[in-house]
Amino acid sequence: MNELLCYTSDFDAAEQEINQLGGLVRLRLTSKAFVAALPLAELSTLVHCKIAPNGNIDDETERLVGIWKASNVPRAPTPSEGVVWNSPDYSTPGAQVLDLAEGEAAIEYEQSTGTPTSRYMTGRISAGIIIVDSNTPGELQFSDDEHATLRDEVLRSLHFLSHEEPRANIGFYPDFKEVAVSLPSESSSVSDPYENLERRWRDTALAELGFPAGRAGYQAYLQQLMSELGTEWGFVAFFTKFPVHWFAYAIWEKVVMHFNNDAWGPSAIHRVFAHEICHVFGAADEYGNCQCGSLHGHLQSPNNNCVSCFGSVSEQAPCLMDRNVLTICEHTRKQIGWCPPLIETETTTL
Ligand SMILES: [Zn+2]
Ligand SMILES: [Zn+2]
Ligand SMILES: [Zn+2]
Repeated sequence: MNELLCYTSDFDAAEQEINQLGGLVRLRLTSKAFVAALPLAELSTLVHCKIAPNGNIDDETERLVGIWKASNVPRAPTPSEGVVWNSPDYSTPGAQVLDLAEGEAAIEYEQSTGTPTSRYMTGRISAGIIIVDSNTPGELQFSDDEHATLRDEVLRSLHFLSHEEPRANIGFYPDFKEVAVSLPSESSSVSDPYENLERRWRDTALAELGFPAGRAGYQAYLQQLMSELGTEWGFVAFFTKFPVHWFAYAIWEKVVMHFNNDAWGPSAIHRVFAHEICHVFGAADEYGNCQCGSLHGHLQSPNNNCVSCFGSVSEQAPCLMDRNVLTICEHTRKQIGWCPPLIETETTTL
């Protein structure tokens, strides 16, 4: 299977063409450009997918294509690579907060994060990426370089997950939205410390994008995106430099990350983000207070790579749910649905 950057003036026709040839869209950059996975022998027959753009392309397509091309050059390891998430000097990426106050049935939380839009990680997946920038120059504002870094990190994260399990036939369809806001003057506070800080910049950004406040607002955005892009699943992610209760966390269908990414740094956003996305699709943490054998995900698979299952840490398999690595263990794979009957038994050529 070959990975190919394609340009098109008709995304739907191009996707159909790729699918008919036994391939898939692995990463949609914009409606004008995408990364396809398809059999090597078929390249010459493509009609809707072009290896060069036909005429001018828009700025966002040009930017994402440039970032995609550069991201294929291997990077030197960063100092925190491979470090267990709860190591001294670092903060742990947040797990989902199971707040039952919104009238959801408790049973739902035992299956992935209880969200009908992310039961398991297979097939086509929308990723609504909302970058909440400050409209006032200063430390809360993203520089152009930081906007590029963020897109790079998001694409690396999605690219990794898209082919970590070939039988899952994953294609990610990110939608980058940049919103520059200023925080509303002090509002009333709520008891949930995450929500208390998040809602101030989040709801301002959602209003700017034409959506209602709160979970209803980002759910509406996600539903719109999923129907526009025709994906089975989806989630939203907010990136910002505005105050957050924790630097990275996943709640329901939503990931929130601070650009600075704690001591892990912006260059590790792709791994922390992949960790949080795995939570959204049902994976449990494997460090700290995880419970050996507790059941998670759509298939209710036991957390058998949890650190407490082992007499010594050296017996634990390396995994993104335990440490800052791009590897996913067999138990996490089952929790996010990379297991029959949700995927085929036989390995295909994808
Ligand atoms: Zn976690
Ligand atoms: Zn690839
Ligand atoms: Zn694992």
